[in-house]
Amino acid sequence: MGAEDRVLAAVDGVLGEAVEFCREMVRVPTVNPPGAEYPRCAELIGARLRRLGYEVAYVPAEGLAEHTAGHPRINVLGTLDPGRPGPTVHFNGHMDVVPAGEGWTRPPFGAVVDGGRIYGRGTADMKAGIAAMVYAVEALRRAGYPIPGRIEQSGTVDEESGGFAGVAYLCQKGLIRAGRTDYVVVAEPLDPDRVCIGHRGVYWFEVTARGRVAHGSMPHLGVNAIELMGLFIDRLRRELKPRLEGRKTALPVVPEAARRPSLNVNGIVGGQTQTETLPTPCVADLCRAVFDRRFIPEETAAEVRREVEDILREIKAEVKGFDYEWRDLMVVEPVVTDAASPLVRAFVRAVKQVYGYEGTVVASPGTYDHKHVRRLGGIEHCIAYGPGRLGLAHRPDEYVEVEDLRRAMGVIALGLINLWGGEKPDAI
Ligand SMILES: [Zn+2]
Repeated sequence: MGAEDRVLAAVDGVLGEAVEFCREMVRVPTVNPPGAEYPRCAELIGARLRRLGYEVAYVPAEGLAEHTAGHPRINVLGTLDPGRPGPTVHFNGHMDVVPAGEGWTRPPFGAVVDGGRIYGRGTADMKAGIAAMVYAVEALRRAGYPIPGRIEQSGTVDEESGGFAGVAYLCQKGLIRAGRTDYVVVAEPLDPDRVCIGHRGVYWFEVTARGRVAHGSMPHLGVNAIELMGLFIDRLRRELKPRLEGRKTALPVVPEAARRPSLNVNGIVGGQTQTETLPTPCVADLCRAVFDRRFIPEETAAEVRREVEDILREIKAEVKGFDYEWRDLMVVEPVVTDAASPLVRAFVRAVKQVYGYEGTVVASPGTYDHKHVRRLGGIEHCIAYGPGRLGLAHRPDEYVEVEDLRRAMGVIALGLINLWGGEKPDAI
C-alpha cells in the first residue's frame, strides 16, 4: 500500500472520533452575538489537542472592550512540533456561530446524527472544519507519516462579528505572522471539492438624514427626514445599482451572481413610530440607515466611498433642506491569494486525488478571517478549505455530511503531503 492509501485508510480510521469531536463542539452553543460559552469551547478544543500531543496555550483577548467578565473572548492555540525541519502550517477555525434563528426541525445544538448527516448550528460553519483539520493531521500521525515542520491549530472567537478578538488578535500578538507562519488554512465552508483563495471587499456605512420636526397635521412647517432618506435610497437604486450591475470581477467568486458588486440596505429607523402605545403626530426630524456595499478587487474602497459621497452631495445641492451625516462602519479591502501559490496547488491536487476531478478554485462572496491573515499577519499563502457547504451556512437545519467530513479530511491530509513536496518516505 502506498503512502497515500495508508493515509486515506488512517482517515477512515479516525472518522468516528472526528464526528464525535464535531458533535461535542456543536453542543456548546457559542452563539455570537453575544459571544457565549467561548471558554468552554476553547477548553474542549484545547483538551483534545493536548490529548493528541499538541502543546496548548489559551489566548484571551485582553485589552479589547468586547473581552468582558460576562463574555470573555478566549482563543486556543495548539502546536505540534515533531522536531523535523519544515514549514509551519497554521490551521484555523472559528468557534463562534450565528444565532440559531427560526425554522429548525431538529434541535439546533443537539448535534443529532441522522441519515449520514450531523445537524446543528455551526456544523458546516465551521465546527466540522475544526474537527477535519485536527483529525486529518492525526490521521497522518497514526499512519506513521513523519510530519516535517510545525502544525498549529487555532480555535478563535468572533469571526462572525469581524474577528478582531480572534484571528486579528493572534496576528497582532505575533502568533500568526510572516516569518513565523508559512501557510494558513481556514476551514470556512466553501464546499469540500473547492479551494477558496480570497473574498470580496466590504464597505458598511451609516447615513443619517436630518429634517426639521413639526406637527404632523402641518407637515409643510417641517422637513421630513424619512422622505429625505427615501430620496437617497431611490437614487442608489436608480443610479448606483445599474452601474454595479455593469461590473464583473475576474475573480472566481461563487455563486456566479456574486461576481458583481452589490448594495443592500441592512436597516433603517426614522421618526417616532409610537410612544408606548399611542402614535405621535410629528414630522420625522431624524432617519438613520445602514448600508452594506460589497465590492470586487477591480474596485477600490476609495472609489466605492466616492460614489456614495457624490450622490449625497448631488442631492444636497438639488434638494432644499437636505442635510445629512455619513460615517464608515467597516471597510475591508478584498484579499486574494495567488492561484499559483504552492498551498493552492497542493490542495487543488489533493481534491483530485480524493474526488477524481480537479478542485475548483473559488473566491468567497463574504469576508472571513483571511483579511487579518493577510493585512495584519502579512501572510501571502492563505486558503479557505473545509467540509461544509456554502449553501448551508447560517440557515435552519444546518448540517454537514459525514461523507463530506471524511473526504475533506482526506484532502487536508493529502494536501499537506503535496505541500511538503510529495515525499513518500520509506518510514511508512
Ligand atoms: Zn464561518
